[in-house]
Order: sequence, then structure tokens, then C-alpha cells
Amino acid sequence: MTNYHYIVPEFHADDRFTLAWSQLFDEVSEAQTLGYQVKPVLLGPLSYLYLGKSAEPDFDRLTLLPRLLVGYQAVLAKLSQLGIEWVQIDEPILALDLESKWQDAFKLAYQILRCDINVLLTTYFGAVNDKLSMLTQLAVDGLHIDLSAAPEQLNSVLAALPEDWVLSLGIINGRNIWRADLAHYAERLRDVKTQLGARCWIASSCSLLHSPVDLSQENGLDPTTYSWFAFAKQKMDEIALLHDALEQENDAQRACEQYSAPLRQREQASEVHKPHIRARLNDANALSERALSYAERVSQQRSALNLPLFPTTTIGSFPQTDAIRRARREHRLGLITDAQYQDAMQSNVHDAIQRQEQLGLDVLVHGEAERNDMVEYFAERLEGFQTTQLGWVQSYGSRCVKPAIVVADIERPAAMTLDWAQYAQSLSVKPVKGMLTGPVTIMCWTFPREDISRQQITEQLALALRDEVDDLQRAGIGIIQIDEPALREGLPLRHQAQSDYLNWAVNAFKVASGSAWPQTQIHTHMCYSDFNQIIDSVAALDADVITIETSRSNMALLHAFEEFDYPNEIGPGVYDIHSPNIPSQEWIEALLTKAAQRIAPQRLWVNPDCGLKTRCWEETEVALTNMVAAAKALREQYAAYPLSN
Ligand code: GLN
Ligand code: ZN
Repeated sequence: MTNYHYIVPEFHADDRFTLAWSQLFDEVSEAQTLGYQVKPVLLGPLSYLYLGKSAEPDFDRLTLLPRLLVGYQAVLAKLSQLGIEWVQIDEPILALDLESKWQDAFKLAYQILRCDINVLLTTYFGAVNDKLSMLTQLAVDGLHIDLSAAPEQLNSVLAALPEDWVLSLGIINGRNIWRADLAHYAERLRDVKTQLGARCWIASSCSLLHSPVDLSQENGLDPTTYSWFAFAKQKMDEIALLHDALEQENDAQRACEQYSAPLRQREQASEVHKPHIRARLNDANALSERALSYAERVSQQRSALNLPLFPTTTIGSFPQTDAIRRARREHRLGLITDAQYQDAMQSNVHDAIQRQEQLGLDVLVHGEAERNDMVEYFAERLEGFQTTQLGWVQSYGSRCVKPAIVVADIERPAAMTLDWAQYAQSLSVKPVKGMLTGPVTIMCWTFPREDISRQQITEQLALALRDEVDDLQRAGIGIIQIDEPALREGLPLRHQAQSDYLNWAVNAFKVASGSAWPQTQIHTHMCYSDFNQIIDSVAALDADVITIETSRSNMALLHAFEEFDYPNEIGPGVYDIHSPNIPSQEWIEALLTKAAQRIAPQRLWVNPDCGLKTRCWEETEVALTNMVAAAKALREQYAAYPLSN
């Protein structure tokens, strides 16, 4: 439900739900022993089922609801024994376009869960005002709404709110790191407070899991910007302060004014708002087409690159070895100099090129040894970003990421990848791909500014990357990959907003790649994704080559490309890099044969399904040896095809 992935539970028709995990109760008791009154949080039964996956193809997960509710009843009974007064039940699916059978299931479900604990039904990341007639009939005691993502819903919710319900105002943004404008919020919510009295709660918009923990621990930021931010701990202070201000406490009102003052200063700051960047943006739309169509570009690229049929390549990164990580850590701690670090990374690039030469790959990469992270690397080199030392947030279960923060208009003071690309290219006569992270992905995987739109941020990034593309091609880099793994996950939750997003996202990619000459081959890469829904946008990117994840689904994902008659070149991943399994030559050949039945062989590339940074060299070399052998075998089989479309 956010750009932070979740682990998807799989449901089977015969699943039963019993209480098997006591951590929640242990933690509640612990908090109570320490003297705190707590509001335990549960994911709601409908969202749990909806966001999970059916293990069997035609299995309707809703049929599990009665049995699941028995499990929830047991949880609530236990919480009631512990003397809990309020429980929060999250139903984030209420912010989606929800099919009526799922909406209809809510009423009975919450009737069944009715007990002596008050339930705060909680929604976030979007508006729920389209579902108010259903919501207000539920057997719950209050509603939490996200006023950060969807402020527009407040009035209709207020008008429909049952008289005895609490309304929890999710006003402090839990998903971003900006200091709240408390003076402004106090102003906005004064009447609501008067109307609801004690039934008005002040809260963060969503879980604080999406925000780093404590700004006061952070020492990596530009000093002037500290007062612009608030991490989770600071957000809790904000909630308390706003609450007190709404209780008409004069001191608190003054404190809110003071707290908001740095934001007023930022509104005017010339280091934030840069007219020359805005001016360039106005012309950006005119920059989004390449000079020639793919059909015309392809012959120029073929003669410039002179690649065999079924060209082999990789997605960009090679194993991030212990030695690489150590060098990075030592550099960060000042134990080795810039020059020493540079040398260490260069020797990794050198090593990666040599290994690829030996493997017989056709299009090489420099291996991304110098990149800590595919977004942070660029954020550190662009003006307009701040990166943190400790700003970790959870992503995908137990993994963590440290998103950069967009603080100002973005520009590229100098080339960001050119030296590495040139160095790598100097080591081989084979083409080495330039490697960039795309504008949409950089935007999606950072904390965005909120005073301009996501679209504007992405356009600024696109212009910076466009200049990088141009620098690379002028330096003799003939193939440039612009990764966009986040394109699909950036989709807004509501269908209605999706086409607008896709339009500007595609346009940004085209602005970034639009400086490429016809003979410069633009690649893009996307990870696992349900392409069916966005295939026309993927095609509209007009990348010369796209590499995608398909190996796990055994090429099933290629359906979308086949049906759509995808016009450009495709590299369906033939090696699942997320698994330690090493694919055999026969396995890869079988996948490629399948792919070649769906996509014209002249337009097929052979590559793993993602970057190899999490693997080790040993397995990588064996897998790539098999991959190259499979490509050669296919080449022989198809030798009869002429190289035209
Ligand atoms: N070029 C990046 C890499 O190989 C792509 C990573 C990604 O798709 N997430 O690591
Ligand atoms: Zn990937």
C-alpha cells in the first residue's frame, strides 16, 4: 500500500486461523506494567484477506472470512482480558476502488467482532468519502482518516459522522519527514475541535514505520535544514503540541507559531526555489521525443553496435563483495582517502570487465561497485537533495532503506557517472552500457518535497538525467540503460488518478532519454511487475530495449508483451537472481525458446532478471557461463533469420 513493499500471505481454501503468537499480548502487558495505556493495532480482517494472494487460481479468499473472524475474536477477547479500552483496526483497503462484494462484507464482519473493546476503524493513504454510507453503519466506535494524503475528505466525513463516534484526525504526515506546519493545522482544525470536543483525536496520518526514528540523532544533514524536518519522535511531539493548542492553551498556541517559523523561512529561501530550473521545465515537453522512431533508429543502432542475434548482457550491478563494503565503510569513517577509495572501486570495475570478457558477454557493464544504492548514489551527486546518516526506514519485511530527501529544486552540478563509464569503456572494445537510475524511480524511492508536486520533482530529475545521457553519448558510450523499477509501484491507488500519473511518468522518462541520438541505444529495466495493466505505458517509454523479470513466472509475463505486440526489443530475464539456484544451460535455452515463440527472435535479448549485487561471484560466473552458452545455442538454431524486423 506504500512504495514500501510487504510480504504477501498466501491463502488456501482449507486454512484455519488460531491464536499462535503471543508477542502482541506480551508487549501490551509490558507497556501496561510500565504504566502506559495503550491502543493495540491490528490489521483488519478484510484488508488481510484482500492484500493476500489465493494459492489456488480460482479460490475466493472471502470464503475464509468467517473462519478468520473466529481468530480475530480470540485476539480481541484476550485484549479485553488485559483491560484494553481501545483497539485500532487498520483497513487500508478502504482507500481503494473496492469491489462491492468486499465492501458488503464489512458490515457483518464488524458486527461479529463487536465486543466490549472500542474499535477505531483506521484508514490511510487516501480518501474514504466514497464509502461513508457503508462505513457509518459499521459496529465500531470511531474512524481514523488520513488528512495528509486526502485532506479533501474532512468535510464529508464530518457531515456523516455518527454522533457517538470518535474522529481521529490523521494530520501529522507519517510517511514523510517534513516538519508539520502546526500553526496552520491549529487554524484549520479549530472548528472541528469545537464541533467534536473530546470526540476529536489528533494523530499521525498513518503508522510512523514509514519515517526514520529520531532527527536529534542525525548528524549528516546540512545545518540550515534541520529545522525543516521531523522524524517519528518529533512527530509524536507535534501531535501532543497540536492537541494542546486545540485545547486553547495559549502557551501551546504560541509554541505552534514558533515551531512553524522555519517553514515560513523555507518558503522564501532562494536555495530552494531556483527560477532557472523552473524556466527550463517550461520547455521540457518539447524535449520528450527522440529524433527518429524506433523503426528508423534500429538500423542505425545495429550498424553502430554490430551485435549478434540474442545479444547477452546483465542488468548493471555485480556482486557487492565484502571488500567493496569494507572500502566504503573505511572511506565513510575517514580511514582511507578519497583517492584510495577511488582506486579500490576502479580495481573492481577492472575486475568486472575482465570477468565479463572471459564470460563472452556481448554488452558489458561497469558493475556499480561505487554505488551504495541506486538512488542514494544519484541523490548525493545532485543539488536539491539531502542524504542522512541514520534515516533508515523498514522496507519489505526486515530490510531497510535510507531514502534521500528532496529539499530544493534539483540540478546536476557535474556529470555523475561519466568517469566510471569512460574508465570501464576504456578497458574493452565491446560496448559498455552507461547505467542510470530513472527519474520516476529516484522520485518514488526518496522522501519528496511537499511544496511542489511529485510530477514537478520528476521533471526536474528528468532534465538532470537528460544532460547525463548526453554527456555519456558524447564520451562514446553507445548504450545507456535508465532503470525504472519503481514505475509500476508509483501508480496511485485509485484508477481515476492512474492515467495522469502514467502520462507524466512516461513523459519524464522520455525527457530523460530524449537527448539520445538515433544510434545511441536506450535500455530500461523493470523488476517484477504485473505489466498487463501498464503495458501501453511501458511501450510509450519508447526505450530501444527493455529488460524485465520473467524467469520466476516461467515467461508467463511475456503474455502482456505478446498480446500488446510490443514493438521494441525485450530481454526477458532468464536467471532469477533472487534465488540461490544456478540455472542450467538447458533451462535457460528452454526459457529462451519459449520467449522466441512469443517475441520475434531479432528483438530478443538474453540477460538475468535483475542486478547481481546480492549474489557472489562464484555462482554468478557459473550462471552467466550457462546463459552465454544458451544464447549461442539459440543463435545457431535461428541462424537462418535475416536481421530485420
Ligand atoms: N541497475 C540496477 C542493478 O543492477 C538495477 C536494480 C533494480 O532493478 N532494482 O542493480
Ligand atoms: Zn531489477
